[in-house]
Amino acid sequence: MPLPTLITDFIALLFPQVCLACQEPLTRGEDHICTICRAQLPYTDYHRLPAAENPLARRFWGKLPVQHAFGYLRFQKQGRVQHLLHELKYRNQQEVGKVLGRWFGQELADAGYGPNFDLILPVPLHARRLAQRGYNQSDSFAEGLAAGLHCPWQPDGLRRITKTESQTRKSRLQRWQNVAEVFEVAQPELVAGRRILVVDDVLTTGATLEACAAVLLAAGATTVSVAAIATADR
Ligand SMILES: [Zn+2]
Repeated sequence: MPLPTLITDFIALLFPQVCLACQEPLTRGEDHICTICRAQLPYTDYHRLPAAENPLARRFWGKLPVQHAFGYLRFQKQGRVQHLLHELKYRNQQEVGKVLGRWFGQELADAGYGPNFDLILPVPLHARRLAQRGYNQSDSFAEGLAAGLHCPWQPDGLRRITKTESQTRKSRLQRWQNVAEVFEVAQPELVAGRRILVVDDVLTTGATLEACAAVLLAAGATTVSVAAIATADR
């Protein structure tokens, strides 16, 4: 039986839920992120641009045929987006990924992208890292996007097979090759003939999503698109 409003309001007064972006108490009806933050988050709106003008899509030019490249927010150090990503990645606040995924998925659907994808796959963590953290931060974003776009998602369609070596002293090409070796398609029958949307928390160089796209295309995916919660400059 649900508690009467008076009691839930009283509980909220004692233990206020705070906005995961700004830490201010939430009011009733707000969903993990307050109305002010929702209005003021630095949205890229890249999905509203023609493909040729989308700066994210350009990061893949001359490398792989990535059909669409989406990034919801612009990463800013010390800002709300960094705070949200920190909550998602290190403080088990998976609602951050779900809420942002749902909002963004809804926007993509409203912009007409809904019918473009057959399956959403998150970039996987290495099994060891997954065991340490207990969850993959990209899963919740995939789940939220799936709800917004009305498209299925699969948590284990991709697998990370070896740990990435230290990349600090490597050239760009070596770095790509290094990362490219670490993903494999876990269930090729899920991917062949399908239009896949691969999702990650942050897109910086695009190397990780590119490596995933490469193995998906090799496994027979019809098209591959990529999406990230936030995009950072290289
Ligand atoms: Zn807020």
